[in-house]
Amino acid sequence: MIRTSLLLALGLGLAAMPAFAEEARTALVIHGGAGVIERRALSQQDERAVRKDLDRALDAGHAVLRTGGSALDAVTASIVVLEESPWFNAGKGAVFNAAGGHELDASIMEGQTRRAGAVAGLSTVRSPITLARTVMEHSPHVMMAGAGAEAFADTRPEIARVRPDWFDTDRRREQLEEARRMENAGQAAIPSSYFGTVGAVALDRQGHIAAATSTGGMTNKRFGRVGDAPIIGAGNWADDRCGVSGTGWGEFYIRAAVAHDICARMAYRGDSLAVAAEAVVNGEVVKLGGNGGAIALDREGNIAMPFNTSGMYRAWIKPDGSRGTAVFRDDK
Ligand code: ASP
Repeated sequence: MIRTSLLLALGLGLAAMPAFAEEARTALVIHGGAGVIERRALSQQDERAVRKDLDRALDAGHAVLRTGGSALDAVTASIVVLEESPWFNAGKGAVFNAAGGHELDASIMEGQTRRAGAVAGLSTVRSPITLARTVMEHSPHVMMAGAGAEAFADTRPEIARVRPDWFDTDRRREQLEEARRMENAGQAAIPSSYFGTVGAVALDRQGHIAAATSTGGMTNKRFGRVGDAPIIGAGNWADDRCGVSGTGWGEFYIRAAVAHDICARMAYRGDSLAVAAEAVVNGEVVKLGGNGGAIALDREGNIAMPFNTSGMYRAWIKPDGSRGTAVFRDDK
């Protein structure tokens, strides 16, 4: 009798174990921003260069996951590559603010512990995601901004520093000039062609999820404007069932609490990842008048990448090992 119930309990226990515990399946999804990305405006050469950097970022994160590393290390590794690439609006290649400088925002979150770190308004930290992680791991705080965040960086010798103009690129300066021209002409001040925030969400062999987001914000932003990327629950979120990184018009992502709302719909309503992500990005954000996209991943390794703009730079590796990069809506 005892033996039977023991065997039964063992059997049930095994049956209840998720597949990834046996196969240690991992998944990774990254983005390089949503926005108006038009085929005719993106030369084949530029598109190849963008896809190559997305691939490199995917490789960096996947190398961590493949060798049993944590989701937290994987998203950090992916984001550092994207921050160093001039093609994306994070780190090198960040957009200019109205004063002709850069103010960088980033955040990171570990799902199973709900630890989080965030920084806003940086101008000399080469890798904002690295400082966000340092805030999480080496300070009692979640978020540090501006001069205080820079002062914290001063106390951490491992944080690489650069001159503020290190982030400059000609392409972003032209975008600032165009935004100023449009503003002077009384035209719409928020050109969504300039989104380009980067993000990564990973599932590791232990079944843990982490999410990270890094950005220069929005071209021509002013007055210490902080977007959604460093706001936990708006542009970035991870818990033990779901992780999200957003990209788009940050004010709307804050007002819709996009990243948290996607995961909350799964927790409270039992929505699938795909349904939850779609409802928030193509429902709530649009209803408020905003636009953008998001990447999301759940603990089974399902991936969702909804967006309501003409394109979103994105790349993924699924639990079955299949991978891809895409830019436009009709990319396979
Ligand atoms: N979400 C970013 C912001 O508003 C912009 C972007 O996605 O590129 O700061």
